[in-house]
Amino acid sequence: MYDVKASILSAIGNTPMVKLNRTSCKNIEIYVKLEYYNPSFSIKDRIAIGMIEDAERKGIIKRGDYVIAKTSGNTGTGLAIACAVKGYRFMAVMSAGNTVEKSQMLKALGAEVVIVPQQPGEEPNTVSRKDNEAVEKKTEELTEKLHAYRPNQYINPVNYLVHEYTTGNEIISQTDGNIDAFVAYVGTGGTFVGISSALKKFRSDIKCYPVEPESAQFLAGKPVITTRHKIQGGGHAIKPPYWDESLVDGYLSVSDEEAMFAARHMAATEGIFTGYSGGANVAAAMKLDDTMGRGSIVVTVLPDSGLKYLSSDLYKY
Ligand code: PMP
Repeated sequence: MYDVKASILSAIGNTPMVKLNRTSCKNIEIYVKLEYYNPSFSIKDRIAIGMIEDAERKGIIKRGDYVIAKTSGNTGTGLAIACAVKGYRFMAVMSAGNTVEKSQMLKALGAEVVIVPQQPGEEPNTVSRKDNEAVEKKTEELTEKLHAYRPNQYINPVNYLVHEYTTGNEIISQTDGNIDAFVAYVGTGGTFVGISSALKKFRSDIKCYPVEPESAQFLAGKPVITTRHKIQGGGHAIKPPYWDESLVDGYLSVSDEEAMFAARHMAATEGIFTGYSGGANVAAAMKLDDTMGRGSIVVTVLPDSGLKYLSSDLYKY
């Protein structure tokens, strides 16, 4: 059969789902959706192409225009691919607290990268709320200066709609609807809100749990101890504008150590190589083991690849 994609953009989505076989769970089975199979090795390729095509449909951008994004790296690499293929200039604004792999990859994909230094007193390899605010300020300045189009994933409904229509519906068809619970780490909230919406529309009794760092259980309404944690891509103690409380059946949290242990264990025993937030999602899923019935199926996503964290301490041991 002739099976050639028209461009790399057609290789986004339809990622594999894999059952974990080496967890210590007594009751539940955990299925992970390998989002690092996307072209820039992260879940964000889905929303990157979604937001660019939405802007094209609305006539907001034309070839040669600047597209700009504040990114922890993953949305940036997705946008870099979409912009390279479609002929837009792309600028990524990111904190120096993100791993160097992400900025190197962005440059390789043709992006102009603006690194915002970490704020005084903040720790390397973490992006605190203060760091995040500094990146926001820089992005706003540059957007105005370059008359750039900013497909702002924090406020753009395409973010969660893409996850509802693609990721969420893929999960339903891959499991034939046999899902009892879903968990996801929250950054912009697009992954959690979109997938949970699809699942709840399919069957309202599927339980959905957002995941936060132990030290910043902001959405759960607990006091934020610190946003200086290692789980890059979220946990900034921000309520996403389109956050929908009616999708939430309870809140889960994980420590840096739990997230790292889960990621390392998956890599070494299952051959599944993901980043901090993938580890966080699996560690959070495992916390449902005590409260769910035997044979219950818990689904989560592995947002990106372990290759994006080789310079951090995640896989240095
Ligand atoms: N994990 C990683 C590695 C990410 O880059 C992001 C998004 N920044 C998330 C998780 C959270 O996804 P979302 O923004 O859809 O909540």
